[in-house]
Amino acid sequence: MELSINQQALAYLLSAILFILGLKGLTHPSTARRGNVYGMLGMLIAITATLMGRDVQSYGFIIAGVAAGAVIGSILAARIQMTAMPQLVAALHSFVGMAAVLVGIGTFLHHRSADLLNPVLMAEISAGVVIGAITFTGSVIAFGKLQGLLSGAQVKFAGQHLLNALIGLLAVALAVHFAMTGSLLSLIAMTLLALTLGVTLIIPIGGADMPVIISMLNSYSGWAAAATGFTLHNNLLIIVGALVGCSGAILSFIMCRAMNRSIINVIFGGFGSESGGGESAGAQAAEKGVKSASVEDAVYWMEDAGKVIIVPGYGMAVAQAQHSLKELMELLQGRGVEVKFAIHPVAGRMPGHMNVLLAEADIPYDNVLEMDEINPEFPSADVVLVVGANDVVNPAAKEDKSSPIYGMPILEAGRARQVYFLKRSMRPGYSGVDNLLFYQDNTSLVFGDAKDTIEGMNAALKGGGH
Ligand code: NDP
Repeated sequence: MELSINQQALAYLLSAILFILGLKGLTHPSTARRGNVYGMLGMLIAITATLMGRDVQSYGFIIAGVAAGAVIGSILAARIQMTAMPQLVAALHSFVGMAAVLVGIGTFLHHRSADLLNPVLMAEISAGVVIGAITFTGSVIAFGKLQGLLSGAQVKFAGQHLLNALIGLLAVALAVHFAMTGSLLSLIAMTLLALTLGVTLIIPIGGADMPVIISMLNSYSGWAAAATGFTLHNNLLIIVGALVGCSGAILSFIMCRAMNRSIINVIFGGFGSESGGGESAGAQAAEKGVKSASVEDAVYWMEDAGKVIIVPGYGMAVAQAQHSLKELMELLQGRGVEVKFAIHPVAGRMPGHMNVLLAEADIPYDNVLEMDEINPEFPSADVVLVVGANDVVNPAAKEDKSSPIYGMPILEAGRARQVYFLKRSMRPGYSGVDNLLFYQDNTSLVFGDAKDTIEGMNAALKGGGH
């Protein structure tokens, strides 16, 4: 059965509505699952309506492509670790970029052979190819950095911005020339320059700024898709591309605000370094004047507390400690202790990382508070348990003007009566900056893998002997 243009337009409209409802759902953890279902349903309708449209000439390649993609996608989805999600997202963006480049070049060659080229079409192709090529190589570099294949440190050299500006201007000039003349040479040169620009734009950016860059590349991939939508005269692709482009841009701004950085500063400045080594944790701590504590010390303070606030961070994800934390929460609640979770917007390694893990462990949303809601509560907390978080509670962001994280809003954990850090060593967090909170009188470090430490706490609480 073949859909008429009107039937297909109606199906696309329905998909677009479902995508918008999906995005709306994703704005809160309690509705995120529903949002995902809307999104999937929208995509199913969109793909079905496209495949049943008049433009499809043969199904052979499409079925082969869908089958290959489905197999690779299913394996990846089943095997991917939550902590490796940012690089997976980067890899997926690179595919969108590559697709936009290939569709652009393919459309050009096809229309040229049919003598159907016109300046508007070629301008659309230029936009799709340039943005797609930047997205492709930029995402490959981001993937390499996050996967540890390339150094996460900033790579800077003199005249970098000038070089980028020159490449950018040259690519735009070639795009204009291509749109006016249909020169294949200009198209190829413009594509190569845009591919180079993706590398030179992303390579200087330090590791700690990568999340913002991923979300910006997400936005670019949306604009590349929208441009491709114009090329292919596909309204839904234009709508979806614009939705992705805008939501990625908005997320980038939200993340920059959470780190108190301007987007310009992230793109052209940036901090981030490799963490310095550090073995024998206890000895190093003592050397630096940091107190270490045992599991029993922490349990002693927690079991009779009125309020305990748990601050999860990247280390909780590494240790997969969320389920043990749920048990700890229940054990403490059973003793009449009020337990809350404090989430920093950039805790972990991707937006919403902590929310996803806590939801996976069925920790009720009502107990999970965002930074602005929980900050006034720290002074009334008896104990703050910092589970594998570091940068997001570092007072250097407020107190040390020379610190690279100066200005980033933090969770004010240090204002509680007692602070216990659960971590394995004296190593700093992602930004590579020493944590001033370690040196505060009311702070102690409980060394060890977060999951093991929490299981120890749970056992002590169940034993009840304190
Ligand atoms: P940090 O990276 O600052 O600190 C994580 C801490 O977890 C480290 O101190 C580490 O110490 C500890 N840790 C690691 N593994 C374990 C384990 N198995 N058990 C116990 N502790 C462990 O994390 P935060 O969440 O506080 O901050 C996030 C940082 O990451 C910010 O700088 C943010 O800008 C950046 N970022 C955020 C992204 C996002 O989108 N949310 C994406 C990419 C980066 P030790 O090694 O001693 O155990």
